[in-house]
Amino acid sequence: MGETQKEKAAVFDIDGTLLNIQKRLEISERESNGNKKLFWQIFLSEKYLDLDTPNERVIKFLQEKWQEDIKVIIVTGRTRNMERYTYYQLSTFNIPWNEAYFRSKGDFRKDYEYKSEIMKKLMQKYEILFIIDDSEEVRKAIEQMGIKAIDPALIS
Ligand SMILES: [Mg+2]
Repeated sequence: MGETQKEKAAVFDIDGTLLNIQKRLEISERESNGNKKLFWQIFLSEKYLDLDTPNERVIKFLQEKWQEDIKVIIVTGRTRNMERYTYYQLSTFNIPWNEAYFRSKGDFRKDYEYKSEIMKKLMQKYEILFIIDDSEEVRKAIEQMGIKAIDPALIS
């Protein structure tokens, strides 16, 4: 199949992109008190997800793509135990999506490694228009795969 026959898709990160996570970050840091393992346990749980707030600019951008019939794919570093509450957040903040990818528990790879692997799979199925992700490391890795990577801070 030629490239032109693939459906168009846009890839969105959640934490720090579609949602503001500053409060969850701060309270996870305070509560773990320098214990890195404990930090990730708290941060990657449902405990403080209710503190996340919508990043309206990026959500509006996503909704525009959805209106243009572009597939919306969520690729998050969140772990599978957070799936249920994450779907609740997405629906609460009017974020439509077609596919969502979560990290397996016990997958301690760097975000850019994990996300590059998913992007490779997605590229077989879709024409990926761009990824939007607040991690510069992720953006650099994905750009090296020939995909446009957008910094959510630049969305107006
Ligand atoms: Mg992020």
